[in-house]
Amino acid sequence: MSDYKLGLDYALQQDQNDELKAYRSHFHIPKDKQGNPWIYMTGNSLGLQPKQTKAYVNQELEDWANLGVEGHLEAKNPWLPYHEFLTESMAKVVGAKPIEVVVMNTLTANLHFMMVSFYNPTKTRYKILIESDAFPSDKYAVESQLRHHGFDDKEGLILWKPRKGEELLNYEDLESILEAQGDEIALIMIGGVNYYTGQFFDLKRISDLGHKHGCNVGFDCAHGAGNVQLNLHNSGADFAVWCTYKYLNSGPGSLAGCFVHERHAHRKDLNRFTGWWSHNKQTRFNMRDEFDQLTGAEGWQLSNPPILSMAAIKASLDMFNEVGMAKLTNKSKKLTGYFEFLLKTLGEDIIKIITPNNPEERGCQLSIQVKNADKALHNKLTEANIISDWREPDVIRCAPVPLYNSFEDVFRLVEKLKAILNE
Ligand SMILES: *Cc1c(COP(=O)(O)O)cnc(C)c1O
Repeated sequence: MSDYKLGLDYALQQDQNDELKAYRSHFHIPKDKQGNPWIYMTGNSLGLQPKQTKAYVNQELEDWANLGVEGHLEAKNPWLPYHEFLTESMAKVVGAKPIEVVVMNTLTANLHFMMVSFYNPTKTRYKILIESDAFPSDKYAVESQLRHHGFDDKEGLILWKPRKGEELLNYEDLESILEAQGDEIALIMIGGVNYYTGQFFDLKRISDLGHKHGCNVGFDCAHGAGNVQLNLHNSGADFAVWCTYKYLNSGPGSLAGCFVHERHAHRKDLNRFTGWWSHNKQTRFNMRDEFDQLTGAEGWQLSNPPILSMAAIKASLDMFNEVGMAKLTNKSKKLTGYFEFLLKTLGEDIIKIITPNNPEERGCQLSIQVKNADKALHNKLTEANIISDWREPDVIRCAPVPLYNSFEDVFRLVEKLKAILNE
């Protein structure tokens, strides 16, 4: 979009016209010791706290204080079905049907539980394909699954790599890998939005391609949930997992989400690890019955969940539900487009944006490579109250989050970057 303009006035005017501008005041924006607000660009790492979260968590603390165990049925939001209060909103956020979504466990744990069901290696088809710059936890998880099944974790792991001198992944390369080795691959597991480059993959294209070659396909959407329109149902993926503490603003280490495609909802043949929370709700408390599998994604739950964490998720999802992903991504594209526009004025010989320039192939994050930069640059930004994320050797990741970041934030960030580079 070329109608962006330079100057603070333009940024302030965009903030004025922003239909989501009220939401910034619904968040706690951290401040320095003098009371100046931070320019917080790390919602991709830990989202800020919605002001209403405290009341949601307090409600559960009070019900626990007043009702003890009776809270399971008598709390204002009864704890027994509490996860169900999150399902519909979460399904909307990720573009899924309610039967396909559950909030449970934590992210890497869910990834393992999904692999129990969807990584079914045989002697000839046992390999796992991931992107070469996968998030470390995901790589460790799939390597350990290979070892768990008795395979070599190097030989069994296939990496989808960028071409020489490039950062982004190319679908033709994925097609070539699958043409050559598709019948050896049991599972394709890709970060829906790559945490490092910010590349948002075409989930449907990857799912279709994988399925054509007989592979199961799953996505880690930690950097996608609440950031981009995932359309998980239509993607046809077998499963997806994500956390809620990044773009979903649900607090450090909060519970994670899990998607299992509807076509698997009633399958009893799938291998899985189970617990009493995977058992039919009507007879769960009879305690002595034979195991009776719950249908849908809920059937992958194991334990009764931590309600305090779920209350924080509910506080956030109620806000997402109110705004909707359409408005959110609409603002996000404008805000990140503006960020890109300003960065380009610094000179493309100094700044290289490795995130795709097509707004459909990215979320709000831009990963910026700064020529000859080292961590000192990042530290100077931090001293100036600009919170960004540094990845060795030379990449700064910045995520202007549409719910609470402003055009002014973006303007001030780039001004500071310019000042530091001119020092
Ligand atoms: C943030 C993130 C994780 C972190 O995993 P936890 O189990 O929540 O600690 C894993 N994978 C990806 C892709 C992530 O972005």
